[in-house]
Amino acid sequence: MERVFRAPGHTGPEGDIGRWEGVVGDEEWAAEICRLKERRNAVILAHNYELPEIQDIADHTGDSLALSRIAAETDADVIVFCGVHFMAETAKILSPDKTVLIPDEDAGCSLADSLTADELAEWKSEHPDAVVVSYINTTAAVKGLTDVCCTSSNAVDVVAGLPADREILFGPDQFLGAHVRRQTGRDNIHVWAGECHVHAGISGPELARRAEENPDADLFIHPECGCANSAIYLAGEGVIDPERVHMLSTGEMLTSAKTAGEAGRGTVLVATEVGMLHQLRGVAPEVDFAPVNERASCPYMKMITPAALLRCLALGTDEVDVEVDVADKARRAVERMISVGTPGGGE
Ligand code: SF4
Repeated sequence: MERVFRAPGHTGPEGDIGRWEGVVGDEEWAAEICRLKERRNAVILAHNYELPEIQDIADHTGDSLALSRIAAETDADVIVFCGVHFMAETAKILSPDKTVLIPDEDAGCSLADSLTADELAEWKSEHPDAVVVSYINTTAAVKGLTDVCCTSSNAVDVVAGLPADREILFGPDQFLGAHVRRQTGRDNIHVWAGECHVHAGISGPELARRAEENPDADLFIHPECGCANSAIYLAGEGVIDPERVHMLSTGEMLTSAKTAGEAGRGTVLVATEVGMLHQLRGVAPEVDFAPVNERASCPYMKMITPAALLRCLALGTDEVDVEVDVADKARRAVERMISVGTPGGGE
């Protein structure tokens, strides 16, 4: 097993992300993972964007919030979070007494990195009376400076529930912020210009082309996608039938996939990270789920390789910790999020 840099198909925005390689995710590997998991009394959680073999070996697969809730309720001593770092931090915030491991602590997130705690502190100082609403894709330090977190499912409800005369700082995702501003009709929302490089890579023109090629296909679109605004625009202009466009969190996509299968739908175009297709095809194998952009693959999620998971369970590394005072403040923001509307699952 070794750490390999710039593996084929594994280039991130920095072009320098390594990952653990040298182990095949076969039956022998799966048996060893199960043995080590039992020895540690661990539970394995995997995000929908993980590699298929990681999703298949996990005890639970889902979106970041659903997995954090499972983490908070588990009897296991150790939570192995197969996802990116802020997700493992959120699990630790909600389960401070558990040991939380991530198979590779360098698995970051370009969206979470687009708003640092220092930047948020400075932004707040410019708007001292504003309420800070942060998407769940943020570091623990940013959550600690946040009044209420949100997912893509309840972002509109969270903002609509705030007093109409209060200024709002919304971050870090500009596309989700634009969606919330449009849906609530509020003009006192300041939106941070952050983005996920994977979702931003799914563009409006690409969506229009794919929709034209597949005139009968439904479109499942995650509001974080760069094409989300375009989809609304194209629907408004009559280029795409508005009935075909479904703005969904990843959790809602699974529910809608089941409905599409039962309704006998043919093709569904999916605008989010390609790892999601493994789950959708599992729920409704009779539907042809096709990516809007097949290159929309998150290099950070794909750092959780079979080798990284084996190393994690064998050595008990990498452990995720969050300072107690930061975790206490962050927990309040996350719990307020959970109490509003239908939080669903965000990413
Ligand atoms: S797909 Fe984007 S938002 Fe999601 S973890 Fe990867 S970089 Fe972050």
